[in-house]
Amino acid sequence: MKQLARRNIASVASYVPGKPIEETKRQLRLKEIIKLASNENPLGVSPKAKEAMKKAISGVNRYPDSLGFYLKEKLAEFLRVNTGNVVLGNGSDELIDIVIKTFVEEDENIITSDVTFLEYEIIAKVNNRKITRVPLKYFKYDLEAIKRKIDKKTKLIFIANPNNPTGTYVTKYEFEDFLRNIPSGVIVVLDEAYEAFIDVDDFPSGINYFRKHNVIALKTFSKAYGLAGLRIGYALANQEFCASMEKVRQPFNTNSLAQAGALAALDDKDFLRRTKENNADGKIYFYRQLSGLGLSYPSSVANFILVDVGKDGVTVFKEMLNYGVIVRDMKQYGLKNFIRVTVGTKKENERFIKILKKVLSKSEVIK
Ligand SMILES: *Cc1c(COP(=O)(O)O)cnc(C)c1O
Repeated sequence: MKQLARRNIASVASYVPGKPIEETKRQLRLKEIIKLASNENPLGVSPKAKEAMKKAISGVNRYPDSLGFYLKEKLAEFLRVNTGNVVLGNGSDELIDIVIKTFVEEDENIITSDVTFLEYEIIAKVNNRKITRVPLKYFKYDLEAIKRKIDKKTKLIFIANPNNPTGTYVTKYEFEDFLRNIPSGVIVVLDEAYEAFIDVDDFPSGINYFRKHNVIALKTFSKAYGLAGLRIGYALANQEFCASMEKVRQPFNTNSLAQAGALAALDDKDFLRRTKENNADGKIYFYRQLSGLGLSYPSSVANFILVDVGKDGVTVFKEMLNYGVIVRDMKQYGLKNFIRVTVGTKKENERFIKILKKVLSKSEVIK
């Protein structure tokens, strides 16, 4: 049959999401399954967000507020910015698409890193835009090498900070050095999906840069705020950038429940505090256990850890799956002997370690 899809679509790799719990249950007939594969919040949904969404349900016969008025007002107050500095999106995934569509001309290009969030490349290719990946340096974004790659046609640079799947971050010093002498026509996108987990003091939060530089920060309610299923995030940028992006987004891109849930989640300080505590404790536990097993990993400032399991990561993923533990293999990212594990509840973390030990020791016997 004649291929009717646009030519660039053929070269697009499909995004492979973390394996859903329900699918695993169906396929393996296992009752107890834990998912530590998509960096979701293991504590569930903020009770305040739940209440707010219940109240909003009776209004879903109406279209959502296209302006996202209340959520934007709340965000503006919360972040001390103007509502005109905020663009709401159907998760930061959609904002990546909006940014590319808004700013990158047909003959312009995009730069990002190797071993980073795969959506930059997928969405760039769907939009038929050229994207170049620069190798990591010691598991970190190599900003100097990225800067050297900038040419006359470079329009956008995507930096996931912290980076997924490595959990590493570029420091304030490194970022400010990078911004120095960057061509004035280049826009830097800081994807800060995990910012709420940051507990270092040299993190260059995008909110401190968008006023003086061509910087756009992307934020999401999917991770620390526990609302991945709702699909809501936002971009922070100067008013002119935001006004252009507002024209590109669909009028009803964020739904009523998502707007209500996100607004309430911002107020649930207790939930956020528990989320951060659980994450910090879980990482300490993982570090200790992984080191005990002789496994190495880059230190993570996010809610997941990239682990060098010393053998094929896809095999480890599959074997762990048989015990009902879903992690992420790193094949798509080109990291063969690695898996990525999300910090879960204490009980989930202990089960992960128990099963990892089992799976790794078994393969040693076979060897
Ligand atoms: C999870 C993740 C996102 C996706 O966020 P959504 O708001 O759920 O679309 C964006 N960027 C990075 C780096 C992520 O890890």
